[in-house]
Amino acid sequence: MATPGAPLVAPVPLVWRLVTVVEVVDETPHARTLALDVPDWPGHVAGQHLDVRLTAEDGYVAERSYSIASAPEDARVALTVERIDDGEVSPYLAGELVVGDQFEVRGPVGGHFTWRAQDGGPLLLVAGGSGLVPLMAMVRHRAARASGAATELLVSSREREAVLYRDELERLASAEDGLNVVYTLTRSRPAGWSGYARRVDAPMLAEVGPAASASPRVFVCGPTPFVEAVADALVSLGHAAENVHTERFGPTGG
Ligand SMILES: Cc1cc2nc3c(=O)[nH]c(=O)nc-3n(C[C@H](O)[C@H](O)[C@H](O)COP(=O)(O)OP(=O)(O)OC[C@H]3O[C@@H](n4cnc5c(N)ncnc54)[C@H](O)[C@@H]3O)c2cc1C
Repeated sequence: MATPGAPLVAPVPLVWRLVTVVEVVDETPHARTLALDVPDWPGHVAGQHLDVRLTAEDGYVAERSYSIASAPEDARVALTVERIDDGEVSPYLAGELVVGDQFEVRGPVGGHFTWRAQDGGPLLLVAGGSGLVPLMAMVRHRAARASGAATELLVSSREREAVLYRDELERLASAEDGLNVVYTLTRSRPAGWSGYARRVDAPMLAEVGPAASASPRVFVCGPTPFVEAVADALVSLGHAAENVHTERFGPTGG
C-alpha cells in the first residue's frame, strides 16, 4: 500500500545525460518531434518531463522543461517542441537541431502528473496546444498496453493545422477500444467544420464527459491561463480537486 504523502513515482537520481538526436519529424508548421537516443535511460512514466540544458560556446546556459511524448514502451525518448518565435530555446530545438546533434537532458522528472495502465479509467484528458504532449504519452501507453480504459481526449487548438499527432490520433480513435477524441478549434475552422469552435468551458466539459459522478482521473495540460480556466470549470462541475491533475507549460495565453 502507498505511504500517505509519498511521491507516486520513485525518484531517480538526477544526472545530466548527453543525448543524440536520431530523428526529426515536422508535426505542424510550428512544432517538431525530436527522437532521442538517451544513454542509460532509466525509463519513465507517461506524463513525466525532462529538463533540457543547452550550453553555448561562450558558456551561456539555458534550461527548459519538455514533456516526454513517447510511451514508456518506446525504445526511443521523444519530445515535441512548439516554436515560440521570440523564445530563447524552442526555436533552436524545433528549428535548428538536426539528426546527430547533441544536447543534455536530466530526468525523468515529475510524479503527480502521471498515469499507468494499471491505474485504470475512466480518464478525461484536456489539452491546450502543445499541452497535448504528455497526454499523448498516456494515450500511446494506453494503446501499447491494450488498456481499454474509457478515455475522453479533448484537444483545444487555434486551428486544425496546429493540432499535433492528428493522423495518429485518428488511427488510435478508429480502433474503437474506448478512446474518443474531441476537438475544439478556437481561431479558424475548415469549411464544413461541425465540431466545437470556442474555448473549453464548463458546458463543453459536461458534454464531453465523463461526468464527475464517474470520478474520472482528469489530466489538464497547456498554457497557464488555459489550465486554470479548465480546472476551475471542472471543479464547478463537481469534479473532486484531488482527481484533477494539472501541468502548466508557460506564463502566457496560447
Ligand atoms: C513541465 C513542463 C513541460 C513542458 N513541456 C513542453 C512540451 O512538451 N513542448 C513545448 O513546446 N513546451 C513545453 N514546455 C514549455 C517550455 O519549457 C518552454 O517554456 C517553451 O519552449 C518556451 O521556451 P523558450 O526558451 O523558447 O521561450 P522563452 O525565451 O522562455 O520565452 C519567450 C516568450 O514566450 C513566452 N512563453 C514562454 N513559454 C511559453 C509557452 N509555453 N507558451 C506560450 N508562451 C510562452 C514567454 O513569456 C516570453 O514572452 C513545458 C514547460 C513545463 C514547465
